[in-house]
Amino acid sequence: METTGRRCKVIALANQKGGVSKTTTTVNLGIGLARAGNRVLLIDSDPQASLTASMGEREPDRLDKTLATVLTSIMEGQEIEAEDGILTHGEGVRFLPANIDLAAVEVSLISAMSREYMLKEYIEAVAPYFDYIITDCMPSLGMLTINALAAADTVLIPLQAQYLSLKGLEQLTATIMRIKKRINPALDFEGILLTMVDARTNYAREIMEMVRGNYGQRIPVFENYIPLSVRVAEASAEGKSIFAHDPKGRASAAYEMLAKEVLAHGR
Ligand code: ADP
Ligand code: MG
Repeated sequence: METTGRRCKVIALANQKGGVSKTTTTVNLGIGLARAGNRVLLIDSDPQASLTASMGEREPDRLDKTLATVLTSIMEGQEIEAEDGILTHGEGVRFLPANIDLAAVEVSLISAMSREYMLKEYIEAVAPYFDYIITDCMPSLGMLTINALAAADTVLIPLQAQYLSLKGLEQLTATIMRIKKRINPALDFEGILLTMVDARTNYAREIMEMVRGNYGQRIPVFENYIPLSVRVAEASAEGKSIFAHDPKGRASAAYEMLAKEVLAHGR
């Protein structure tokens, strides 16, 4: 790998609720940024390995090198090679896969020295080679998610357009503020992204306004939202991005706009 000579921006995709489109957004934002000419690394920080599967890797449990092995090396104080374990997806992004071994690694993190900073150490080693590093978090606020937030410049919060989602957002922002205070003072919000918006109902707009009203002062809300679209789910099942699966569809346009908004935020 060659160094970029540019600053790398590290974004964590976090929400302790499952099924809100964290993984899908990691893939499509990452590939959107790569299509705009950026060198992008996606990190799968979920033992369920959905990102790894969405990248077309059918048997994550057979992989030799994953985030689990990388974090184990770091905890043991071994040197790591920047390229170790990184795979390439056909649409121009690189990714560090995960598998079920990561669940045990999360447990051993709890008693590790400097336990919040193990992923940061890895990210610092690979950052010279990338413009964007995006970490796909698991649906919890446990040690792996804390590691992702400790290592990030910004956090992007995918939020499903439902009233109940607002409750979880309160707990998530409280955790983020605690991490900002104690662990990573430079952590900023990339923004809240409304996902799976059903255009046939009009409460999406209402929720968008509620989110803006309640959080807009502290947290930016993306202008653009992601529509509910069966094409999005089909694309992940095929190991492709929405750009490859349905280039002319609304979800593809939405993800392209999202990548533009993120680019406009700068590094
Ligand atoms: P998370 O990572 O937050 O658990 P996923 O990205 O895995 O969420 O998405 C959960 C499920 O919803 C997956 O089956 C995915 O294919 C589907 N999905 C995600 N985004 C959309 C969308 N915009 N429209 C329709 N289905 C979606
Ligand atoms: Mg996921």
